[in-house]
Amino acid sequence: MMDRKAVVEPPAGSPANPIPLPKSKKLLEAYYAGKRLDSPLGGQLDVLGVREGKTGVGEVLLECNTSSLRYLLKIPKATKAEQAEAKKALAAGDELSCPRHGPEQRLVKSGKSWICSLCGVAYLKT
Ligand SMILES: [Zn+2]
Repeated sequence: MMDRKAVVEPPAGSPANPIPLPKSKKLLEAYYAGKRLDSPLGGQLDVLGVREGKTGVGEVLLECNTSSLRYLLKIPKATKAEQAEAKKALAAGDELSCPRHGPEQRLVKSGKSWICSLCGVAYLKT
């Protein structure tokens, strides 16, 4: 993170400046399971959008249904094992699916990346 002291930035939780959710395995597991996430300050989080982040991570933009504050959930990038598995499936001519969301969740090709539309993670680059 750059030193942004001198810069006037939009308030935390506003659409231009979503609050990063704490790194939590439990949170990620709930997200992968398709559960609605609890908002840190009460209420629940609705998914507004998913995007492919830089360096293969995914970014999920969420909005609290009580405070309307925006949050950002970072999804860790694909592991070596997940990449190898996707590569194997592609070579075998199988459909690629998200290793975290399960076989029903197909990966979609975007440019050179095979991405889960729920994770935003690129599991394979071709
Ligand atoms: Zn996924």
